[in-house]
Amino acid sequence: MIITVDGPAGAGKSTIAKLLAEKLNFLYVDTGAMYRALTLKAENQNMDYADIPGLVKMAEKTKITLEKSKSCKTIVFLDGFDVSDAIREPIITNAVYKIARIAEIRQIMVSWQRDYGKKHSIVMEGRDIGTVVFPQAEKKFYLDASAQIRAKRRMLELKEKGIDISREELITQIEERDHKDKTRKCGPLKIADDAIYIDSSDLDISEVVTTMLKYLKDKHEK
Ligand code: C5P
Repeated sequence: MIITVDGPAGAGKSTIAKLLAEKLNFLYVDTGAMYRALTLKAENQNMDYADIPGLVKMAEKTKITLEKSKSCKTIVFLDGFDVSDAIREPIITNAVYKIARIAEIRQIMVSWQRDYGKKHSIVMEGRDIGTVVFPQAEKKFYLDASAQIRAKRRMLELKEKGIDISREELITQIEERDHKDKTRKCGPLKIADDAIYIDSSDLDISEVVTTMLKYLKDKHEK
């Protein structure tokens, strides 16, 4: 069975998709981590983001694997090296769009992502999972929240890491990232026609997971 969770940055997709996968005993796949890992490689190799053939060649020679740690964290391996922390650095967050907008690279990513669905029951989260990667998925969710709420959540996360950044600045960053994700030509962020839309602005994590589980149960009872 394939369950897709799409939505903008900071809507809680990762935490929620991971919890949902745990409850169902499905594999959780974070596709943003794949785009981030490839961006890290491009940064490390000082690639020119205008050199599309060079970037595509680099992607073709790359191996990205996602594994689950004992504490249920996703460990991201880039060509055999654990890059789980490095891919979350702001420099990567701000550069991912330069990789994610390249159609040929998205095709490679989509084919890797489809492979996961051939072998496992999965909860896969990203931006284009219900629309492009698995349009035939049994259940699709689109998780949203207001930019103000998403900025507030991000601010708290960063504070825990000792990083101080104003809410206004974060709102601007979030809105810019939303705009880039929604307006790119290939695989833009959009709500699949058959997705269940959940606004998590006023819900906590467990309320969202409970809502999703209810939708899944309803589907099986029909
Ligand atoms: O989900 P996360 O914020 O880690 O994703 C980082 C970036 O990767 C997104 O802003 C988006 O540009 C890109 N992405 C994508 N398609 C996906 C998942 C992520 O383009 N399926």
